[in-house]
Parts: sequence; structure tokens; C-alpha cells
Amino acid sequence: MRVAAIIPAAGSGTRLQSVLDRPKQFTRVAGKPLLAHTLLAFQACPLVDLVVIPTREDAIETVWEEIIEPYGITVVQEVITGGATRQESVWRGLQVLEEADVDIVAVHDAARIFVTPDIITRSVRAAERYGGCVVGLPAVDTIKMSHETWIEATIDRSVLWYAQTPQTFRYPLLRRAFRHAADIGFTGTDEAMLVETLGERVALVRGSKYNLKITDPEDLELARALLAYPHREESQ
Ligand code: C5P
Repeated sequence: MRVAAIIPAAGSGTRLQSVLDRPKQFTRVAGKPLLAHTLLAFQACPLVDLVVIPTREDAIETVWEEIIEPYGITVVQEVITGGATRQESVWRGLQVLEEADVDIVAVHDAARIFVTPDIITRSVRAAERYGGCVVGLPAVDTIKMSHETWIEATIDRSVLWYAQTPQTFRYPLLRRAFRHAADIGFTGTDEAMLVETLGERVALVRGSKYNLKITDPEDLELARALLAYPHREESQ
């Protein structure tokens, strides 16, 4: 079984722009760029054979020079130009994999730096077994549907999950889902939505509260605090 990961890092990091002067992936936490944290977790997972990173064209060289080379990351096969949307960035990554003879593909947000080899392994195993899966967590907060200032409805929390990444699929299934989405002009907010649109089932795999996506300045502070705390359990 050959496993690839696509780690899209072509976002503009708009919500962090006020506190950063460079693209988010180069921001350091605990002395290391965000993207290096994420890549080292994938490199430490023995099931992962190769990684493709779609990023902004003007960042490709810096990704090699500031992240891949200095941190001894050998699992990255290609850094490519991403697209205007996350979906387009992942689609370009999937096209690169056409020649790579891959069975399973894990798609993971570059900004989820606390992913662990254990979470990646569980998602790959679930994709092997079920065809596709999303790492996530059952909702613990009550979730409201809003209309402007007002609550429109309260959704039964017992059926809700927060979707994280990795989202991991058998390669032919994910490629078919992306083709179908392109054919019907559908844009989703995650990979699973595209597979769901095909009418295929996607499994849920328990992730971790630590697997947060660094999106705004508060997340950056949280990440720094978590990394300063030495007893974080690897797979919690
Ligand atoms: O927008 P969202 O927060 O869902 O982005 C998740 C990931 O997708 C980030 O790691 C971001 O860099 C990436 N992305 C991308 N290409 C885009 C937009 C976002 O690779 N055009």
C-alpha cells in the first residue's frame, strides 16, 4: 500500500495578516515554522510514503529553503503552485499524484500543526477499510443556526461532529469526487463534501482537541501555549 499526503498551504492567511508580516506557514512557534511542525508529524508516520505541498507560487522556493532543507524533511516529493481555492490547490496535488502509483491520499491543512503520527495512522487505516474518512470530534457545545443577530434554530448536538483533517481516501475515489465536482461546478469546504456529493459514504474517525487549525491570532497564542506545556499527550 502506497500512501501520499497533500498538505495545501496556498491560503492567504487573511485572518492573521494583522499580526504577521509573512505568509502564515513561515511563522515560527517554538522556534519552528508552522509548516515544519506539520511536515515533521507526517515524516514521523511510517505509513506515509510521500507528501505534495501546493503553495503560492512566490513561496515555493522559500518552502524548500526555510522549511524542507533546514529541518531535514525528506518525505516531501514536490512543492507545486496551488490554486485560487483550497479545492483547486488539492486538485492540483491530486494531478501530480497521477504518476505516483498511490493507493491512499490523506489531505491535511498545513495550519493543523498538532496532528500526530497516531492520528494519521488511524485515518489511513479507516480509509483502507471504509474507502474514506474524516478525522473529527463529536460536538460538545450546543450549536445555533443564526440569521443576523438572532437564533434561527438549535441543531440536535448528538448528531453533530466538528470536521478536522486529515481527510483520507482511496486515491481513485477522491480523484473521481474531484472530477465530478469540477463537472457540476461544485465547490465544497472540505474533501468529504465532494465524496458525499458522489453519493459515497465517508466514515468519521475520532481526532483530538489539540488538532486545532491556526486561523486567527488567538489560535497562534494557543499554539504557543500548548507547545510550552511539556506534558501534552501525543494522541489526546
Ligand atoms: O480556508 P481554510 O481555512 O479552510 O484553508 C485550509 C487550508 O487550505 C490552509 O492550510 C490553506 O493554506 C489552504 N488553502 C490552499 N489554497 C487556497 C486556500 C487555502 O491551499 N487557495
